[in-house]
Amino acid sequence: MIQDYKNYKSFSIIGAARSGVAAAKLLKNKGYKVFLSDAGNLEKINKDFIKELKEHNIDFETGRHSEKVYESDALIVSPGVPQNSTVIQEALKKGKEVVSEVEAASWFCKGKIISITGTNGKTTTTTLIGEIFKDAGYKTFVCGNIGVAFCDVVDNIDEDGIAVVETSSFQLDNIKNFKPYISILLNITPDHLNRYENSFNNYINSKLRVIENQDGNDYFIFNYDDEIIRQSMNEKVKAQLIPFSIKQDLSNVGYDSGAYPDNNRLIYFNNTGKENVIDAGNLIIKGQHNIYNSLASIISAKIFKIKRELINKTLSEFKGVEHRLEYVRELDGVKFYNDSKATNVNSVWYALQGFSEPIILILGGRDKGNDYSEIENEVKQNVKHIIAIGESKEKVYNYFKEKMPVTLAGDMTDAVNKAFQYADKNNVVLLSPACASFDMFDSYEHRGSEFKRIVNELNGK
Ligand code: ADP
Repeated sequence: MIQDYKNYKSFSIIGAARSGVAAAKLLKNKGYKVFLSDAGNLEKINKDFIKELKEHNIDFETGRHSEKVYESDALIVSPGVPQNSTVIQEALKKGKEVVSEVEAASWFCKGKIISITGTNGKTTTTTLIGEIFKDAGYKTFVCGNIGVAFCDVVDNIDEDGIAVVETSSFQLDNIKNFKPYISILLNITPDHLNRYENSFNNYINSKLRVIENQDGNDYFIFNYDDEIIRQSMNEKVKAQLIPFSIKQDLSNVGYDSGAYPDNNRLIYFNNTGKENVIDAGNLIIKGQHNIYNSLASIISAKIFKIKRELINKTLSEFKGVEHRLEYVRELDGVKFYNDSKATNVNSVWYALQGFSEPIILILGGRDKGNDYSEIENEVKQNVKHIIAIGESKEKVYNYFKEKMPVTLAGDMTDAVNKAFQYADKNNVVLLSPACASFDMFDSYEHRGSEFKRIVNELNGK
């Protein structure tokens, strides 16, 4: 807990999105004076949130951050508010404590916290771990960056409950005492650099903050194949280290326990022996990235001594999460996949690994400083035609036009039609855009749903 949060009497909450409203309600319920401030226009802010604030008698302002924000003892910031925004910088200058929503929720959490962070794979792994723990009979609360805010559920979590928290680096930016029993770091690759003053180091440091409050009774599950993680996790780690790898047998590299595939069997080992938890072929979720996600999930379950049979059953039934390499339909022998959540180049790299068929790839959207050379080889090998969409379609076109066929599309309908037109039997049409969606859609969910609607309305050739 932050030193004296109990002595605080008032909090200003910055940002009226889901997590901000959840934090406001939680703290108000706990008897604190709460003021919520959102610089956005009231018309643009979700009407349901405003209704909730009124119902709970929460004082709020929209359209600006007035001086009243700084009258509170501390600020709680929503993950959507950049660290360098005037309101946060001003508060820090005035000596106010600034914390994130997961930090505030954790003050009131009686159960154990499993935190999942990394550039890619958070939602899939969080969901999978949630399923494993639920199936094993734990009172499990899946929350964080995943639809339900931690503040929304924390009051229901008692001593034997488990909070499975998807934790973004923006949430970690403002932790003080957030202390997961288990923290999982899946991978670190460049993304969101626009929010970290274009410094990869700042982004790495932000992700690694998840271990800073852990002690010897806690666990840090990390990707042994990720050089950046191995180089940057330093002697500051006090938690027990448990690695996972898809590249090597970890049983002889100096750790007491870990997980890795051996001849396609996912092995967990500790000082009592090795266990074949599941054959990779029995996983419904495909691709190397999902082997990583499964290994990390297996380790977290084994820390709680969940039986192999139970983990095996849940893993073999887990269908994945919507908009992540999601199978949509087959038409005239062409399979359509929705990977709208692939909002960076690295996710596209993994998506491309998931198929042996030739791919028609729909790429583009709001660019986040993408470097397409990172996927050039894989694209050349697996993709037979690129359909470029969105704000960044010229960039995509210019990068790939000398290397392979690229076609520009006006909107998603045009993109799907053109992709289908270029696809032959046994080809895959894959929406894996490597970009944010906000140029054409409200969110990646909206983009993926539109893609699926259009695909489902297609008629055969
Ligand atoms: P996040 O919540 O971190 O954005 P998701 O589970 O939503 O991650 O997956 C986002 C995209 O990243 C997916 O579309 C998938 O292609 C890719 N992905 C999933 N897991 C991994 C992983 N472990 N490593 C790299 N890419 C991954």
